[in-house]
Amino acid sequence: MIGTINGKPVEFSANETILQVAKRYGHFIPTLCEMADLDHAPGTCRVCLVEIERRKGAPRQLVTSCNTPMEEGMAVLTRTPALREQQRLQVELLLADHNQDCAVCIRHGNCELQDVAQFVGLRQSRYHYPHFYKQRTRDESSRAIVRDMSKCIRCLRCVKVCREIQGTDALVITEKGLATEISVRDNLPLGNSDCVACGQCILVCPVGALAERDDTEQVIDYLYDPRITTVFQFAPAVRVALGESFRMPAGANVEGQIVTALKHLGADVVLDTNFTADLVIMEEGTELLRRMEPGGRLPMFTSCCPAWVTFAEKNYPEILPHISTTRSPQQCFGAMAKTYLADGMGIDAKTMRVVSIMPCTAKKEEAHRPEFIHEGHPDVDVVLTTREFARLLKREGIDLAGLEPSAYDNPLMGDYSGAAAIFGTTGGVMEAALRTVYKVVTGDELAAIEFQEVRGNALVREAEVDLNNGTPPVRVAVAHSLKAARQMAEMVLQGKAPYQFIEIMACPGGCMGGGGQPRSKKAYQTNRVERQNALYTIDRERQVRQSHNNPLINKLYDEFLEEPNSHKAHDLLHTTYRARQRTIRHTMKEIWQEIEAR
Ligand code: SF4
Ligand code: SF4
Ligand code: SF4
Repeated sequence: MIGTINGKPVEFSANETILQVAKRYGHFIPTLCEMADLDHAPGTCRVCLVEIERRKGAPRQLVTSCNTPMEEGMAVLTRTPALREQQRLQVELLLADHNQDCAVCIRHGNCELQDVAQFVGLRQSRYHYPHFYKQRTRDESSRAIVRDMSKCIRCLRCVKVCREIQGTDALVITEKGLATEISVRDNLPLGNSDCVACGQCILVCPVGALAERDDTEQVIDYLYDPRITTVFQFAPAVRVALGESFRMPAGANVEGQIVTALKHLGADVVLDTNFTADLVIMEEGTELLRRMEPGGRLPMFTSCCPAWVTFAEKNYPEILPHISTTRSPQQCFGAMAKTYLADGMGIDAKTMRVVSIMPCTAKKEEAHRPEFIHEGHPDVDVVLTTREFARLLKREGIDLAGLEPSAYDNPLMGDYSGAAAIFGTTGGVMEAALRTVYKVVTGDELAAIEFQEVRGNALVREAEVDLNNGTPPVRVAVAHSLKAARQMAEMVLQGKAPYQFIEIMACPGGCMGGGGQPRSKKAYQTNRVERQNALYTIDRERQVRQSHNNPLINKLYDEFLEEPNSHKAHDLLHTTYRARQRTIRHTMKEIWQEIEAR
Protein backbone atom coordinates (compact mmCIF):
# COMPACT_ATOMS: atom_id res chain seq x y z
CA MET A 1 0.00 0.00 0.00
CA ILE A 2 1.11 3.55 -0.65
CA GLY A 3 0.56 6.90 1.09
CA THR A 4 2.61 10.00 1.84
CA ILE A 5 4.31 11.47 4.89
CA ASN A 6 5.23 15.14 4.65
CA GLY A 7 4.61 14.89 0.89
CA LYS A 8 7.03 11.99 0.38
CA PRO A 9 5.69 8.62 -0.78
CA VAL A 10 5.80 5.73 1.70
CA GLU A 11 5.01 2.06 1.30
CA PHE A 12 3.52 0.04 4.12
CA SER A 13 1.63 -3.13 4.89
CA ALA A 14 -1.81 -3.54 6.43
CA ASN A 15 -2.05 -2.88 10.19
CA GLU A 16 1.11 -0.82 10.34
CA THR A 17 0.57 2.31 12.39
CA ILE A 18 1.44 5.79 11.15
CA LEU A 19 4.18 5.94 13.78
CA GLN A 20 5.78 2.70 12.61
CA VAL A 21 5.82 3.82 8.99
CA ALA A 22 7.11 7.28 9.90
CA LYS A 23 9.97 5.77 11.92
CA ARG A 24 10.91 3.49 9.07
CA TYR A 25 11.16 6.45 6.73
CA GLY A 26 13.07 8.63 9.21
CA HIS A 27 10.25 11.09 10.08
CA PHE A 28 10.65 11.80 13.79
CA ILE A 29 7.48 11.93 15.88
CA PRO A 30 7.89 12.53 19.63
CA THR A 31 6.35 9.96 21.99
CA LEU A 32 6.29 9.35 25.72
CA CYS A 33 4.30 6.15 26.10
CA GLU A 34 5.28 4.17 22.98
CA MET A 35 8.68 2.45 23.00
CA ALA A 36 10.27 0.95 19.90
CA ASP A 37 10.64 -2.66 21.04
CA LEU A 38 7.92 -2.84 23.68
CA ASP A 39 4.93 -3.54 21.47
CA HIS A 40 3.14 -0.92 23.49
CA ALA A 41 1.07 1.93 22.14
CA PRO A 42 -1.68 2.77 24.58
CA GLY A 43 -2.02 6.33 23.27
CA THR A 44 -2.02 7.73 26.78
CA CYS A 45 0.53 10.54 26.39
CA ARG A 46 -1.16 11.97 23.26
CA VAL A 47 2.08 13.66 22.21
CA CYS A 48 2.55 11.69 18.99
CA LEU A 49 -0.06 13.76 17.18
CA VAL A 50 -0.05 14.02 13.39
CA GLU A 51 -2.42 15.67 10.94
CA ILE A 52 -3.95 13.35 8.36
CA GLU A 53 -6.02 13.54 5.21
CA ARG A 54 -7.53 10.10 4.70
CA ARG A 55 -7.93 10.74 0.98
CA LYS A 56 -7.49 13.74 -1.24
CA GLY A 57 -9.94 16.48 -0.31
CA ALA A 58 -11.17 14.79 2.91
CA PRO A 59 -11.25 16.97 6.03
CA ARG A 60 -7.97 17.10 7.96
CA GLN A 61 -7.89 15.42 11.37
CA LEU A 62 -5.49 15.37 14.28
CA VAL A 63 -4.86 11.78 15.42
CA THR A 64 -2.39 9.95 17.65
CA SER A 65 0.06 8.21 15.32
CA CYS A 66 0.90 5.30 17.65
CA ASN A 67 -2.53 3.71 17.41
CA THR A 68 -3.89 4.94 14.06
CA PRO A 69 -3.29 2.54 11.16
CA MET A 70 -1.79 3.92 7.98
CA GLU A 71 -4.29 3.67 5.12
CA GLU A 72 -4.05 3.48 1.34
CA GLY A 73 -3.82 7.01 -0.10
CA MET A 74 -3.48 8.65 3.32
CA ALA A 75 -1.47 11.88 3.51
CA VAL A 76 0.26 12.46 6.86
CA LEU A 77 1.80 15.72 8.03
CA THR A 78 3.99 15.80 11.13
CA ARG A 79 4.82 19.49 11.58
CA THR A 80 1.81 21.68 10.76
CA PRO A 81 1.30 24.80 12.93
CA ALA A 82 -2.00 23.47 14.30
CA LEU A 83 -0.54 20.20 15.41
CA ARG A 84 2.59 21.76 16.90
CA GLU A 85 0.34 24.04 18.93
CA GLN A 86 -1.70 21.08 20.11
CA GLN A 87 1.45 19.11 21.00
CA ARG A 88 2.71 22.06 23.06
CA LEU A 89 -0.56 22.24 24.93
CA GLN A 90 -0.49 18.51 25.56
CA VAL A 91 3.05 18.62 26.98
CA GLU A 92 2.11 21.67 29.04
CA LEU A 93 -0.77 19.71 30.56
CA LEU A 94 1.53 16.79 31.35
CA LEU A 95 3.91 19.20 33.06
CA ALA A 96 1.08 20.85 34.99
CA ASP A 97 0.38 17.59 36.76
CA HIS A 98 4.05 16.76 37.29
CA ASN A 99 6.37 17.60 40.15
CA GLN A 100 8.85 19.81 38.29
CA ASP A 101 11.78 19.63 40.67
CA CYS A 102 13.99 18.99 37.65
CA ALA A 103 17.18 20.40 39.18
CA VAL A 104 17.21 17.76 41.91
CA CYS A 105 15.55 14.93 39.98
CA ILE A 106 17.48 11.67 39.59
CA ARG A 107 16.72 11.86 35.87
CA HIS A 108 18.24 15.31 35.46
CA GLY A 109 19.86 15.42 32.03
CA ASN A 110 18.27 12.14 30.99
CA CYS A 111 14.54 12.83 31.06
CA GLU A 112 12.27 12.05 28.14
CA LEU A 113 9.65 14.58 29.26
CA GLN A 114 12.21 17.39 29.20
CA ASP A 115 13.40 16.25 25.76
CA VAL A 116 9.88 16.26 24.37
CA ALA A 117 9.15 19.69 25.88
CA GLN A 118 12.20 20.99 24.06
CA PHE A 119 11.30 19.22 20.83
CA VAL A 120 7.82 20.74 20.65
CA GLY A 121 9.30 24.17 21.40
CA LEU A 122 7.53 24.73 24.72
CA ARG A 123 8.71 28.01 26.22
CA GLN A 124 6.22 28.41 29.02
CA SER A 125 4.54 26.31 31.64
CA ARG A 126 1.35 28.15 32.47
CA TYR A 127 -0.43 25.52 34.55
CA HIS A 128 0.69 24.00 37.78
CA TYR A 129 -1.47 21.73 39.93
CA PRO A 130 0.56 20.73 42.99
CA HIS A 131 -2.60 19.80 44.90
CA PHE A 132 -2.98 16.84 42.48
CA TYR A 133 0.54 15.50 42.25
CA LYS A 134 1.44 16.16 45.87
CA GLN A 135 -1.17 13.66 46.97
CA ARG A 136 0.43 10.92 44.96
CA THR A 137 2.50 8.23 46.60
CA ARG A 138 6.20 8.35 47.32
CA ASP A 139 7.20 4.83 48.27
CA GLU A 140 10.65 4.16 49.71
CA SER A 141 9.81 0.82 51.28
CA SER A 142 12.05 -1.17 48.93
CA ARG A 143 15.81 -1.45 49.50
CA ALA A 144 16.29 -1.18 45.76
CA ILE A 145 13.65 1.00 44.13
CA VAL A 146 12.01 4.34 44.90
CA ARG A 147 8.58 5.13 43.44
CA ASP A 148 7.69 8.81 43.23
CA MET A 149 4.27 9.02 41.65
CA SER A 150 4.30 12.83 41.78
CA LYS A 151 6.42 12.52 38.65
CA CYS A 152 4.45 9.77 36.91
CA ILE A 153 2.94 10.70 33.54
CA ARG A 154 0.85 7.49 33.44
CA CYS A 155 2.44 6.17 30.25
CA LEU A 156 1.86 2.59 31.52
CA ARG A 157 5.19 1.29 30.21
CA CYS A 158 6.12 -0.05 33.67
CA VAL A 159 2.82 -1.92 34.02
CA LYS A 160 3.37 -3.50 30.62
CA VAL A 161 6.94 -4.64 31.38
CA CYS A 162 6.15 -5.93 34.86
CA ARG A 163 3.11 -7.83 33.61
CA GLU A 164 4.03 -9.04 30.16
CA ILE A 165 7.83 -9.33 30.11
CA GLN A 166 8.38 -10.31 33.73
CA GLY A 167 5.02 -11.92 34.50
CA THR A 168 5.35 -10.48 37.99
CA ASP A 169 2.31 -8.22 37.73
CA ALA A 170 3.22 -6.21 40.80
CA LEU A 171 1.97 -2.90 39.37
CA VAL A 172 -1.64 -1.97 38.66
CA ILE A 173 -3.61 1.05 37.47
CA THR A 174 -5.91 2.48 40.10
CA GLU A 175 -8.55 5.22 40.06
CA LYS A 176 -9.64 7.13 36.96
CA GLY A 177 -9.19 10.46 35.19
CA LEU A 178 -6.97 12.95 36.97
CA ALA A 179 -6.83 10.64 39.98
CA THR A 180 -5.31 7.77 37.94
CA GLU A 181 -2.26 6.37 39.66
CA ILE A 182 0.12 3.50 39.08
CA SER A 183 -0.08 1.55 42.33
CA VAL A 184 1.34 -1.60 43.77
CA ARG A 185 -1.06 -4.54 43.69
CA ASP A 186 -3.22 -4.74 46.84
CA ASN A 187 -2.06 -1.22 47.74
CA LEU A 188 1.05 -2.67 49.36
CA PRO A 189 4.32 -0.84 49.72
CA LEU A 190 6.68 -2.03 47.01
CA GLY A 191 9.09 -3.58 49.50
CA ASN A 192 6.41 -5.94 50.80
CA SER A 193 4.76 -6.75 47.51
CA ASP A 194 5.14 -9.21 44.64
CA CYS A 195 7.93 -7.01 43.27
CA VAL A 196 11.29 -8.78 43.08
CA ALA A 197 13.34 -5.62 42.50
CA CYS A 198 14.48 -6.59 38.99
CA GLY A 199 14.35 -2.93 37.97
CA GLN A 200 13.05 -3.58 34.46
CA CYS A 201 10.30 -1.02 35.07
CA ILE A 202 12.98 1.63 35.69
CA LEU A 203 14.52 0.94 32.28
CA VAL A 204 11.30 2.02 30.56
CA CYS A 205 10.12 4.85 32.81
CA PRO A 206 10.51 8.06 30.78
CA VAL A 207 10.76 10.29 33.87
CA GLY A 208 11.98 10.18 37.45
CA ALA A 209 8.93 8.32 38.78
CA LEU A 210 10.81 5.03 39.12
CA ALA A 211 14.46 4.92 40.06
CA GLU A 212 17.04 2.94 41.95
CA ARG A 213 17.63 3.97 45.56
CA ASP A 214 20.59 6.32 45.40
CA ASP A 215 23.44 5.04 47.60
CA THR A 216 26.22 7.20 46.21
CA GLU A 217 26.45 9.39 49.34
CA GLN A 218 27.28 6.34 51.43
CA VAL A 219 30.15 5.47 49.08
CA ILE A 220 31.57 9.00 49.26
CA ASP A 221 31.43 8.80 53.08
CA TYR A 222 33.50 5.61 52.99
CA LEU A 223 35.98 6.98 50.46
CA TYR A 224 36.69 10.03 52.60
CA ASP A 225 36.95 8.20 55.93
CA PRO A 226 40.65 7.52 56.66
CA ARG A 227 39.80 4.71 59.09
CA ILE A 228 38.10 2.70 56.35
CA THR A 229 39.68 0.46 53.71
CA THR A 230 37.42 0.48 50.66
CA VAL A 231 37.38 -2.59 48.42
CA PHE A 232 35.50 -2.26 45.14
CA GLN A 233 34.22 -5.01 42.88
CA PHE A 234 32.37 -4.67 39.59
CA ALA A 235 30.31 -7.22 37.71
CA PRO A 236 31.00 -8.58 34.21
CA ALA A 237 28.11 -6.73 32.55
CA VAL A 238 29.09 -3.31 33.93
CA ARG A 239 32.25 -2.99 31.83
CA VAL A 240 30.40 -3.45 28.52
CA ALA A 241 27.66 -0.91 29.27
CA LEU A 242 29.10 1.90 31.41
CA GLY A 243 30.82 3.52 28.41
CA GLU A 244 27.37 4.30 26.93
CA SER A 245 26.93 6.90 29.70
CA PHE A 246 30.10 8.63 28.50
CA ARG A 247 29.34 8.81 24.76
CA MET A 248 31.38 5.71 24.02
CA PRO A 249 30.13 3.14 21.49
CA ALA A 250 27.74 0.45 22.72
CA GLY A 251 29.68 -2.62 23.85
CA ALA A 252 32.95 -0.76 24.48
CA ASN A 253 34.89 -2.70 27.11
CA VAL A 254 35.91 -0.14 29.76
CA GLU A 255 37.25 -2.55 32.38
CA GLY A 256 40.65 -0.83 32.63
CA GLN A 257 39.09 2.64 32.69
CA ILE A 258 36.83 1.58 35.58
CA VAL A 259 39.91 0.58 37.58
CA THR A 260 41.53 3.95 36.81
CA ALA A 261 38.34 5.85 37.66
CA LEU A 262 38.00 4.09 41.01
CA LYS A 263 41.62 4.86 41.82
CA HIS A 264 40.95 8.54 41.01
CA LEU A 265 37.98 8.42 43.37
CA GLY A 266 40.30 7.19 46.13
CA ALA A 267 39.44 3.47 46.27
CA ASP A 268 41.98 1.49 48.30
CA VAL A 269 41.56 -1.81 46.46
CA VAL A 270 39.89 -2.42 43.09
CA LEU A 271 39.04 -5.98 42.13
CA ASP A 272 36.68 -7.84 39.88
CA THR A 273 33.51 -9.80 40.60
CA ASN A 274 34.71 -12.05 37.77
CA PHE A 275 37.16 -13.61 40.23
CA THR A 276 34.30 -14.88 42.37
CA ALA A 277 32.28 -15.82 39.29
CA ASP A 278 35.05 -18.40 38.78
CA LEU A 279 34.68 -19.39 42.42
CA VAL A 280 30.92 -19.81 41.99
CA ILE A 281 31.54 -22.20 39.11
CA MET A 282 33.82 -24.33 41.29
CA GLU A 283 31.21 -24.48 44.06
CA GLU A 284 28.10 -24.78 41.91
CA GLY A 285 29.68 -27.29 39.51
CA THR A 286 30.73 -29.49 42.42
CA GLU A 287 27.25 -29.16 43.93
CA LEU A 288 25.71 -30.24 40.63
CA LEU A 289 27.90 -33.34 40.46
CA ARG A 290 26.93 -34.26 44.03
CA ARG A 291 23.26 -33.83 43.20
CA MET A 292 23.72 -36.09 40.18
CA GLU A 293 24.65 -38.95 42.49
CA PRO A 294 21.81 -41.35 43.39
CA GLY A 295 19.20 -39.65 45.62
CA GLY A 296 20.31 -36.12 44.71
CA ARG A 297 17.67 -33.44 44.14
CA LEU A 298 17.46 -32.51 40.44
CA PRO A 299 17.11 -30.44 38.40
CA MET A 300 19.33 -27.85 40.01
CA PHE A 301 18.63 -24.17 39.30
CA THR A 302 21.36 -21.54 39.27
CA SER A 303 21.34 -19.07 42.16
CA CYS A 304 23.35 -16.08 40.85
CA CYS A 305 20.32 -13.90 40.21
CA PRO A 306 18.72 -12.48 43.37
CA ALA A 307 15.55 -11.38 41.56
CA TRP A 308 15.04 -15.00 40.49
CA VAL A 309 15.70 -16.25 44.02
CA THR A 310 13.20 -13.76 45.45
CA PHE A 311 10.70 -14.68 42.74
CA ALA A 312 11.01 -18.35 43.71
CA GLU A 313 10.76 -17.55 47.43
CA LYS A 314 7.57 -15.54 46.86
CA ASN A 315 5.92 -17.68 44.20
CA TYR A 316 7.33 -21.21 44.25
CA PRO A 317 8.50 -22.17 47.77
CA GLU A 318 8.26 -25.86 46.79
CA ILE A 319 11.07 -25.29 44.34
CA LEU A 320 13.59 -23.81 46.78
CA PRO A 321 15.38 -27.13 47.47
CA HIS A 322 16.17 -27.22 43.74
CA ILE A 323 18.07 -23.94 43.80
CA SER A 324 21.83 -24.22 44.17
CA THR A 325 22.91 -23.17 47.64
CA THR A 326 25.96 -21.39 46.21
CA ARG A 327 25.89 -17.65 46.87
CA SER A 328 26.01 -15.22 43.99
CA PRO A 329 29.40 -13.90 42.80
CA GLN A 330 28.68 -10.58 44.53
CA GLN A 331 28.15 -12.26 47.90
CA CYS A 332 31.04 -14.71 47.47
CA PHE A 333 33.23 -11.67 46.80
CA GLY A 334 32.05 -9.97 50.00
CA ALA A 335 32.69 -13.12 52.05
CA MET A 336 36.16 -13.63 50.56
CA ALA A 337 37.10 -9.96 50.89
CA LYS A 338 36.26 -9.87 54.58
CA THR A 339 38.14 -13.09 55.38
CA TYR A 340 40.80 -14.17 52.89
CA LEU A 341 41.64 -10.70 51.54
CA ALA A 342 41.51 -8.97 54.94
CA ASP A 343 43.85 -11.65 56.36
CA GLY A 344 46.17 -11.33 53.36
CA MET A 345 46.28 -7.56 53.70
CA GLY A 346 46.69 -7.76 57.46
CA ILE A 347 43.70 -5.54 58.22
CA ASP A 348 40.70 -5.88 60.51
CA ALA A 349 37.68 -6.85 58.40
CA LYS A 350 35.54 -4.55 60.57
CA THR A 351 37.36 -1.56 59.05
CA MET A 352 36.80 -2.82 55.50
CA ARG A 353 33.87 -1.67 53.37
CA VAL A 354 33.02 -3.66 50.26
CA VAL A 355 31.34 -1.66 47.52
CA SER A 356 29.79 -3.39 44.51
CA ILE A 357 29.09 -1.85 41.14
CA MET A 358 26.37 -3.96 39.59
CA PRO A 359 24.10 -3.94 36.54
CA CYS A 360 21.37 -4.87 38.95
CA THR A 361 18.88 -3.28 41.33
CA ALA A 362 18.05 -6.61 43.01
CA LYS A 363 21.65 -6.86 44.25
CA LYS A 364 20.88 -3.96 46.59
CA GLU A 365 18.28 -6.13 48.30
CA GLU A 366 20.50 -9.19 48.18
CA ALA A 367 23.29 -7.45 50.10
CA HIS A 368 20.80 -6.80 52.92
CA ARG A 369 19.55 -10.35 53.30
CA PRO A 370 20.04 -11.32 56.96
CA GLU A 371 22.04 -14.40 55.93
CA PHE A 372 24.76 -12.10 54.64
CA ILE A 373 25.06 -9.86 57.69
CA HIS A 374 27.17 -11.03 60.61
CA GLU A 375 27.06 -9.17 63.94
CA GLY A 376 25.83 -6.09 62.15
CA HIS A 377 28.53 -6.28 59.46
CA PRO A 378 27.32 -7.04 55.94
CA ASP A 379 29.61 -8.95 53.57
CA VAL A 380 28.80 -6.31 50.95
CA ASP A 381 28.28 -2.85 52.42
CA VAL A 382 26.92 -0.85 49.49
CA VAL A 383 25.71 -1.68 46.01
CA LEU A 384 25.72 0.92 43.26
CA THR A 385 24.07 0.28 39.93
CA THR A 386 25.95 1.05 36.72
CA ARG A 387 23.79 4.19 36.40
CA GLU A 388 24.64 5.37 39.92
CA PHE A 389 28.33 4.78 39.29
CA ALA A 390 28.12 6.88 36.10
CA ARG A 391 26.44 9.66 38.11
CA LEU A 392 29.08 9.43 40.82
CA LEU A 393 31.89 9.76 38.27
CA LYS A 394 30.20 12.73 36.61
CA ARG A 395 29.63 14.59 39.85
CA GLU A 396 33.31 14.02 40.74
CA GLY A 397 34.30 15.43 37.34
CA ILE A 398 35.71 12.17 35.98
CA ASP A 399 35.18 11.57 32.26
CA LEU A 400 35.60 7.83 31.76
CA ALA A 401 36.18 8.23 28.03
CA GLY A 402 39.35 10.23 28.63
CA LEU A 403 41.00 7.78 31.05
CA GLU A 404 43.88 5.40 30.36
CA PRO A 405 43.14 1.84 31.48
CA SER A 406 44.81 0.36 34.60
CA ALA A 407 45.25 -3.19 35.87
CA TYR A 408 44.10 -4.70 39.17
CA ASP A 409 46.60 -4.19 41.89
CA ASN A 410 45.95 -6.98 44.36
CA PRO A 411 47.66 -10.35 43.91
CA LEU A 412 45.06 -12.36 45.87
CA MET A 413 41.83 -11.86 43.92
CA GLY A 414 42.87 -10.03 40.76
CA ASP A 415 42.50 -12.53 37.91
CA TYR A 416 39.63 -14.20 36.09
CA SER A 417 38.90 -16.62 33.29
CA GLY A 418 36.91 -16.12 30.08
CA ALA A 419 34.22 -18.31 31.62
CA ALA A 420 33.65 -15.71 34.33
CA ALA A 421 33.35 -12.90 31.79
CA ILE A 422 30.33 -14.48 30.11
CA PHE A 423 28.35 -14.56 33.38
CA GLY A 424 27.03 -11.22 32.17
CA THR A 425 24.90 -12.70 29.40
CA THR A 426 22.05 -15.17 29.38
CA GLY A 427 23.53 -18.66 28.93
CA GLY A 428 26.91 -17.59 30.29
CA VAL A 429 26.70 -19.23 33.71
CA MET A 430 25.59 -22.47 32.10
CA GLU A 431 28.40 -22.42 29.54
CA ALA A 432 30.98 -21.60 32.21
CA ALA A 433 29.71 -24.43 34.43
CA LEU A 434 29.73 -26.97 31.60
CA ARG A 435 33.37 -26.20 30.79
CA THR A 436 34.35 -27.09 34.35
CA VAL A 437 31.92 -29.96 34.97
CA TYR A 438 33.22 -31.69 31.83
CA LYS A 439 36.81 -31.41 33.06
CA VAL A 440 35.95 -32.65 36.56
CA VAL A 441 34.01 -35.68 35.26
CA THR A 442 36.27 -36.73 32.38
CA GLY A 443 39.65 -35.34 33.42
CA ASP A 444 39.93 -33.78 29.96
CA GLU A 445 39.41 -30.25 28.72
CA LEU A 446 36.59 -29.83 26.22
CA ALA A 447 37.86 -29.80 22.64
CA ALA A 448 35.37 -27.06 21.71
CA ILE A 449 34.58 -24.94 24.73
CA GLU A 450 32.00 -22.63 23.16
CA PHE A 451 28.51 -24.06 23.62
CA GLN A 452 26.55 -22.50 20.78
CA GLU A 453 23.35 -24.30 21.85
CA VAL A 454 23.08 -22.26 25.05
CA ARG A 455 23.97 -18.98 23.32
CA GLY A 456 21.47 -16.71 21.59
CA ASN A 457 18.42 -14.89 22.81
CA ALA A 458 15.48 -17.29 22.58
CA LEU A 459 13.66 -17.06 25.91
CA VAL A 460 14.20 -20.76 26.61
CA ARG A 461 17.08 -22.76 25.14
CA GLU A 462 18.17 -26.31 25.80
CA ALA A 463 21.15 -28.52 25.11
CA GLU A 464 22.54 -31.99 25.74
CA VAL A 465 26.10 -32.49 26.86
CA ASP A 466 27.78 -35.87 26.59
CA LEU A 467 30.14 -36.23 29.53
CA ASN A 468 31.78 -39.27 27.88
CA ASN A 469 31.63 -41.29 31.07
CA GLY A 470 29.14 -43.92 30.01
CA THR A 471 26.16 -42.07 31.53
CA PRO A 472 23.33 -40.55 29.45
CA PRO A 473 24.04 -36.99 28.27
CA VAL A 474 23.33 -34.20 30.75
CA ARG A 475 20.30 -32.15 29.68
CA VAL A 476 20.42 -28.47 30.46
CA ALA A 477 18.15 -25.47 29.89
CA VAL A 478 18.61 -21.71 29.94
CA ALA A 479 15.78 -19.24 30.52
CA HIS A 480 15.77 -15.48 30.82
CA SER A 481 13.03 -13.06 31.92
CA LEU A 482 10.79 -13.97 34.83
CA LYS A 483 8.00 -14.96 32.50
CA ALA A 484 10.29 -17.70 31.14
CA ALA A 485 11.39 -18.51 34.70
CA ARG A 486 7.77 -19.10 35.70
CA GLN A 487 7.38 -21.45 32.75
CA MET A 488 10.44 -23.43 33.91
CA ALA A 489 9.30 -23.54 37.52
CA GLU A 490 5.86 -24.83 36.49
CA MET A 491 7.47 -27.51 34.30
CA VAL A 492 9.63 -28.71 37.18
CA LEU A 493 6.71 -28.80 39.60
CA GLN A 494 4.63 -30.78 37.11
CA GLY A 495 7.51 -33.22 36.58
CA LYS A 496 7.75 -32.22 32.93
CA ALA A 497 11.26 -30.75 32.92
CA PRO A 498 13.70 -33.33 31.55
CA TYR A 499 16.76 -31.36 32.69
CA GLN A 500 19.50 -31.77 35.26
CA PHE A 501 20.62 -28.15 35.32
CA ILE A 502 18.67 -24.95 34.59
CA GLU A 503 20.06 -21.42 34.39
CA ILE A 504 17.64 -18.61 35.18
CA MET A 505 18.31 -14.90 34.79
CA ALA A 506 15.47 -12.55 35.68
CA CYS A 507 16.36 -9.82 33.22
CA PRO A 508 15.84 -10.26 29.49
CA GLY A 509 19.30 -10.91 28.06
CA GLY A 510 20.72 -11.65 31.52
CA CYS A 511 22.66 -9.09 33.53
CA MET A 512 23.78 -7.15 30.46
CA GLY A 513 20.09 -6.12 30.25
CA GLY A 514 19.91 -5.60 34.02
CA GLY A 515 17.61 -3.09 35.65
CA GLY A 516 20.60 -0.99 36.81
CA GLN A 517 22.21 -0.58 33.39
CA PRO A 518 22.26 2.64 31.34
CA ARG A 519 18.88 3.14 29.75
CA SER A 520 18.04 4.35 26.30
CA LYS A 521 15.38 6.78 25.21
CA LYS A 522 14.89 4.88 21.96
CA ALA A 523 14.30 1.30 22.97
CA TYR A 524 13.73 -0.90 26.01
CA GLN A 525 16.16 -3.72 25.28
CA THR A 526 18.88 -1.42 24.17
CA ASN A 527 22.35 -2.31 22.86
CA ARG A 528 21.94 -5.96 23.84
CA VAL A 529 23.75 -7.38 20.81
CA GLU A 530 26.76 -5.10 21.24
CA ARG A 531 27.03 -5.81 24.97
CA GLN A 532 26.70 -9.55 24.43
CA ASN A 533 29.28 -9.61 21.64
CA ALA A 534 31.68 -7.66 23.83
CA LEU A 535 31.36 -10.25 26.62
CA TYR A 536 32.05 -13.11 24.21
CA THR A 537 35.06 -11.18 22.86
CA ILE A 538 36.47 -10.80 26.38
CA ASP A 539 36.09 -14.56 26.82
CA ARG A 540 37.82 -15.33 23.49
CA GLU A 541 40.71 -13.04 24.31
CA ARG A 542 41.47 -14.41 27.79
CA GLN A 543 44.41 -16.75 28.03
CA VAL A 544 42.55 -18.86 30.58
CA ARG A 545 38.96 -19.64 29.60
CA GLN A 546 37.88 -22.14 32.25
CA SER A 547 37.25 -21.33 35.91
CA HIS A 548 39.19 -24.34 37.18
CA ASN A 549 42.31 -23.07 35.38
CA ASN A 550 42.30 -19.67 37.09
CA PRO A 551 45.57 -19.89 39.07
CA LEU A 552 44.31 -17.55 41.80
CA ILE A 553 41.24 -19.72 42.36
CA ASN A 554 43.47 -22.75 42.80
CA LYS A 555 45.66 -20.79 45.22
CA LEU A 556 42.54 -19.77 47.18
CA TYR A 557 41.53 -23.41 47.60
CA ASP A 558 45.09 -24.52 48.42
CA GLU A 559 45.70 -21.83 51.01
CA PHE A 560 42.27 -21.12 52.47
CA LEU A 561 39.16 -23.00 51.37
CA GLU A 562 40.72 -26.50 51.10
CA GLU A 563 38.48 -27.83 48.33
CA PRO A 564 35.18 -27.05 46.59
CA ASN A 565 32.18 -27.68 48.87
CA SER A 566 34.49 -28.13 51.89
CA HIS A 567 33.09 -27.33 55.32
CA LYS A 568 34.74 -23.91 55.21
CA ALA A 569 33.51 -23.25 51.68
CA HIS A 570 29.99 -24.14 52.81
CA ASP A 571 30.19 -21.70 55.70
CA LEU A 572 31.42 -18.83 53.57
CA LEU A 573 30.05 -19.43 50.09
CA HIS A 574 26.70 -21.15 50.49
CA THR A 575 23.34 -20.00 51.81
CA THR A 576 19.75 -20.96 52.50
CA TYR A 577 16.41 -19.75 51.16
CA ARG A 578 13.06 -19.26 52.80
CA ALA A 579 9.48 -19.13 51.62
CA ARG A 580 8.44 -15.49 51.77
CA GLN A 581 4.97 -14.13 51.98
CA ARG A 582 4.06 -10.59 51.26
CA THR A 583 3.46 -8.94 54.58
CA ILE A 584 0.28 -6.89 54.54
CA ARG A 585 1.39 -5.43 57.86
CA HIS A 586 2.46 -2.12 56.34
CA THR A 587 -0.08 -0.91 53.84
CA MET A 588 0.51 2.35 52.05
CA LYS A 589 -2.18 3.92 54.21
CA GLU A 590 -0.30 2.94 57.36
CA ILE A 591 2.97 4.24 55.93
CA TRP A 592 1.34 7.59 55.13
CA GLN A 593 -0.09 7.74 58.63
CA GLU A 594 3.41 7.10 59.98
CA ILE A 595 4.93 9.81 57.77
CA GLU A 596 2.26 12.33 58.73
CA ALA A 597 2.75 11.54 62.41
CA ARG A 598 6.49 12.38 62.21
S1 SF4 B 1 11.18 -4.08 39.81
FE1 SF4 B 1 10.53 -5.75 38.44
S2 SF4 B 1 9.00 -6.87 39.63
FE2 SF4 B 1 9.28 -4.88 40.65
S3 SF4 B 1 7.69 -3.57 39.80
FE3 SF4 B 1 9.52 -3.27 38.54
S4 SF4 B 1 9.33 -4.74 36.83
FE4 SF4 B 1 7.87 -5.34 38.43
S1 SF4 C 1 5.90 5.13 36.72
FE1 SF4 C 1 7.05 5.77 34.89
S2 SF4 C 1 6.76 4.07 33.45
FE2 SF4 C 1 5.20 3.85 35.03
S3 SF4 C 1 3.41 4.88 34.22
FE3 SF4 C 1 4.51 6.37 35.48
S4 SF4 C 1 5.84 7.47 34.06
FE4 SF4 C 1 5.18 5.60 33.02
S1 SF4 D 1 19.60 -11.01 35.61
FE1 SF4 D 1 21.39 -10.04 36.52
S2 SF4 D 1 20.86 -7.87 36.57
FE2 SF4 D 1 18.93 -8.97 36.32
S3 SF4 D 1 18.13 -9.27 38.39
FE3 SF4 D 1 19.34 -11.09 37.83
S4 SF4 D 1 21.40 -10.70 38.64
FE4 SF4 D 1 20.30 -8.73 38.56
